[in-house]
Amino acid sequence: MNQTTCALSFKFAESELISSVNHILTSPVEYLKGVGPQRAELLKKELNIFTFRDLLEHFPYRHIDKTRISPIGEIKPQFDPLGGQPFVQVAGNLHSLELIGQKAGKRLVATLRDKSGEMELTWFQGINWVQKSLEIGQAYLVYGRVGFYQGQAQIVHPEFEIYTPSKADGKDFLEPVYPTTEKLKARGLGGRQLAKLSFTLFTMLTERDVPENIPEPVLKQLDLVNRFQAYKQIHFPSSVSQHESAVKRLKFEEFFIAQLRMGLLRSERHRYSKGVVFDKVGDVFNTFYKDHLPFELTNAQKRVLREIRTDTAKGHQMNRLLQGDVGSGKTIVALLTMLLAVDNGYQACLMAPTEILAQQHFATLSRLLSNMDVPVELLTGSVKAKPRKIILQALADGSLPILVGTHAVIEDVVQFKNLGIVIIDEQHRFGVAQRAKLWGKAKVPPHVLVMTATPIPRTLAMTAYGDLDYSVIDELPPGRQPITTVHRYESQRSKVMDFIRAEIEKGRQIYIIFPLIEESAKLDYENLMKGYENVKAYFPEPKYWISMVHGRQPHEQKELNMKRFKEKDTQILVSTTVIEVGVDVPNASVMVIESTEKFGLSQLHQLRGRVGRGAEKSYCILLSGSKLGNDAKERINIMVSTQNGFEIAEKDLELRGPGDIAGTRQSGELNFKLASLVQDRDLLDLARNLAADILEKDPELGSAENLQLKQFLRQEKGKLAWSKIS
Ligand code: ADP
Ligand code: MG
Repeated sequence: MNQTTCALSFKFAESELISSVNHILTSPVEYLKGVGPQRAELLKKELNIFTFRDLLEHFPYRHIDKTRISPIGEIKPQFDPLGGQPFVQVAGNLHSLELIGQKAGKRLVATLRDKSGEMELTWFQGINWVQKSLEIGQAYLVYGRVGFYQGQAQIVHPEFEIYTPSKADGKDFLEPVYPTTEKLKARGLGGRQLAKLSFTLFTMLTERDVPENIPEPVLKQLDLVNRFQAYKQIHFPSSVSQHESAVKRLKFEEFFIAQLRMGLLRSERHRYSKGVVFDKVGDVFNTFYKDHLPFELTNAQKRVLREIRTDTAKGHQMNRLLQGDVGSGKTIVALLTMLLAVDNGYQACLMAPTEILAQQHFATLSRLLSNMDVPVELLTGSVKAKPRKIILQALADGSLPILVGTHAVIEDVVQFKNLGIVIIDEQHRFGVAQRAKLWGKAKVPPHVLVMTATPIPRTLAMTAYGDLDYSVIDELPPGRQPITTVHRYESQRSKVMDFIRAEIEKGRQIYIIFPLIEESAKLDYENLMKGYENVKAYFPEPKYWISMVHGRQPHEQKELNMKRFKEKDTQILVSTTVIEVGVDVPNASVMVIESTEKFGLSQLHQLRGRVGRGAEKSYCILLSGSKLGNDAKERINIMVSTQNGFEIAEKDLELRGPGDIAGTRQSGELNFKLASLVQDRDLLDLARNLAADILEKDPELGSAENLQLKQFLRQEKGKLAWSKIS
């Protein structure tokens, strides 16, 4: 554990550690009556259930409401605006069972009859097993999504079981059904049989074993059921509304606890971490600002700089995430921040994820600083031994104030005299371990500014990065021409090529991007080659020159091909998505995306951001096949209709959930068991605000009403990996 993480650990005095560890919940599951060693083995393997607690947290995915059996004759086709079909539960006698069709069309069709009518049940898979399990004339309880085919109600792959009316009728209760697996079913632990285990577990538990962790006032304000009740009722509710209250309570708890953890880390950093102090704005900053800044900063850039200045002046370590859409002007903010460090006698380091990006930053900074006496150097893997030695020396003796680099910067031999700030561009390519390594380079941890161009919806950012401070550049520099985005089908390719030719005639350059799907790298490669030949046929040498960049090329060749495009040696760049994020070729005015349907939204947005950087009117052409799925259509529509990265990120979240965005931060923080960042946003907002309130009023959680909460966090602390801290 390094000093940073130490400073961040909870400030709990040992005396406050009142022992209320729940021994019973930590018991191995095999000790539960009805389990035993063999089933325990399977529960572990199949469902990751090791302890009583795991079983408690294995929630049913639905409940059978035995009081609600629909008469078959009354099931009507329903218009469902969401496109889903309603679930129904019916009970009837199996009237026929027949195997129909051949080979791929083979299916098992049964008819089920009750007093009111008849419906079809169909299976395409597991036919043998189903056929063996069903018996004509027997009564079954059947559950599934009902659909209508030629006016006939039917359920495909329904759940079924033998129906014994006496067992259920008239009783008002909801029977839980749990996620399970085939292997467990074979051992008598099917979805409904698991309920017996939960039931046994609850006979052993009391409120003391599942103590409350949400402060009383919050429970009251939101009218939440207490924790023990919530667990009980999510498994065994006596009504639908009781189940809903339980779910709401537990979802809220997930959000609330996550927000508190993050908030605590953040506020502890604010209060206890040591940081270098940038409290002067001196000559370097002022001279640059007055005499060399090539444009007026946008208001958003000014605001972010103020936030950074305030934050770095306090004597605590800054740990800030800076979001700004592609082209919003993060580089100049980075530079001004570094100059601030220099004015205060510290060194600054800007890290980029790739060599090309590092070179680009180096060129930009060198140009901007060309009339100032502030040395900048570039350190990457390809810097030769001799100049490298000189750079290392200058870093160690403090004569080099600003370094731009790739991860080569974090090698052990690189020692700074007094590193004051590290700025990381496109953070998601940097691992946490790499960052931690940078801290180690200073006695007092340097400030950290992480810049990302992958827009993350605000809610998500606050959740995933709640332990960091957060700034956003939400405004583009003035005078940007909007990029015209159009969707074209494959069949219109030659028109597209004509358009490209006309742009090239005007002196512009073109990107043509092919998809890259890791799982089928070979196929992608072949596609790319075919595409390249195709483009070449339209644009033959020597009139036209094409660069091609792809993942299978040796590093040097990739760099060389990129360089040729950058230097206008070639007019067209054909590439897979290896095209470096953030690469800047202002003269490129057309982005053609091949097989657009295979790209995700945020990827498309990033790619489009490669054009529209110069003074020329720019275009993004989304080529696709003629058959498009709904999601692909939606993505294309969004791309055509907006250029706002945050709007796109919101849509992406709705379409695909947080998974992809979560990938930008390897953390379990976004994996909520019950709560959904998309559907439960209101609850998330509530949780965030309430957590923030509590921390503001009682940052140490020392008050009596927060005691349970504090104990809970203390006990759960072991579960929180420190590596999640930036
Ligand atoms: P990104 O946020 O994507 O890293 P850059 O820092 O590369 O964006 O800036 C994109 C372009 O906008 C650059 O050419 C930069 O010089 C220019 N730029 C940045 N800020 C301003 C501004 N306030 N006014 C005009 N141009 C700006
Ligand atoms: Mg950038």
